[in-house]
Amino acid sequence: MDRLQLKEILKKYMKIPRLSGYEREAADTFAADLSAFSDDVTIDRMGNVIAAFPGNDPNAPSVMVFAHMDSIGFIITNIDEQGYLRLDRVGGVPEKALQGLDVRVRSENGEWHNGVIGIKAYHVLDDTGKSRVDPIPSLFVDLGADSREEVLAAGIQVGCPVVYGEHYKELMNDRISGSYTDGASGMTSLIHLATLLKEDKDRPATVFIVGTVMEEFNARGAMLAQRKVHADLAICLMGPGAGDTPDLYGTNLVRLGSGIGINMMNFHGKGTLNGNIIHSGLLCAFKKASDDTGIPIQRQAARGALSDTAYLQLEDLGVACIDMGTPDRYSHGPMEVLDLKDLERCAPLVHNVLLGINRDFELRR
Ligand SMILES: [Zn+2]
Repeated sequence: MDRLQLKEILKKYMKIPRLSGYEREAADTFAADLSAFSDDVTIDRMGNVIAAFPGNDPNAPSVMVFAHMDSIGFIITNIDEQGYLRLDRVGGVPEKALQGLDVRVRSENGEWHNGVIGIKAYHVLDDTGKSRVDPIPSLFVDLGADSREEVLAAGIQVGCPVVYGEHYKELMNDRISGSYTDGASGMTSLIHLATLLKEDKDRPATVFIVGTVMEEFNARGAMLAQRKVHADLAICLMGPGAGDTPDLYGTNLVRLGSGIGINMMNFHGKGTLNGNIIHSGLLCAFKKASDDTGIPIQRQAARGALSDTAYLQLEDLGVACIDMGTPDRYSHGPMEVLDLKDLERCAPLVHNVLLGINRDFELRR
């Protein structure tokens, strides 16, 4: 697949609203797309999409390569008499980026409505108001409605999903900005990977391509996919945040456009105490694949985040895990940025790793 094809797939997935718990449309689309490359595509009870690509050695370890399909966003907590919506967050939504932003609100009938998160007119803001970041429960969504009755009549109720507006912009240097590149870039790489796996003739390892649910909500959707496929290894496509913007200089060495990110360690301490420390065998496999393909890898080690590998690694007798993928900027903001030059190198690097996994791979850490 070339850069242009990948860009179109990325754009498609970015635009599908897929709040955690409401991944159905994204899952159906993703499953249909994978069906072009695998005869064995299923969707489990949680909504995970699983496509099998059998290998030719039953004694080789099996590998799950996955990315989360869901996104951050909000749910409606209250609808006031004037028809304004109050929200709570689903996942790590940055308050800073919200006021004045457009959103999409889904009714219980599945229709989407446009809304705006209100921002006080500049002219009436006092000095503290100008610099203050207002907490999410104080924000409201304006649907253009005049009353609660009008909102309810449109099928919009407490508990309905709200997501960022549809944003997609092409920047200089093959960089894409918009809402929800998070997840969409991994899904795009999985489709790219499926095109490569389909052509394999003598790959020992069975590979499962999986689109997971609920990563942004509780990071545990992938566990349920594992209970079906029982993979020995798992590769999670979730790019590390690049440290190449003025606000992050010095925090890490990952630069956009400079190769695929490898997470050596991630960890989330706020009530979860979980994360992933890279499996050394997988790190070796990626270093070798980088040498073989000439695709550079960039290391990152950071606290403050985790992925579904945190929980997935504890399933069955233990799963050897790695978090890696296309780096991004401004993660979870309404205008994330990634570089197509990285995106197009992600699947070929993973594919090279997969070809090298055989019965001699040591699962023990
Ligand atoms: Zn995320």
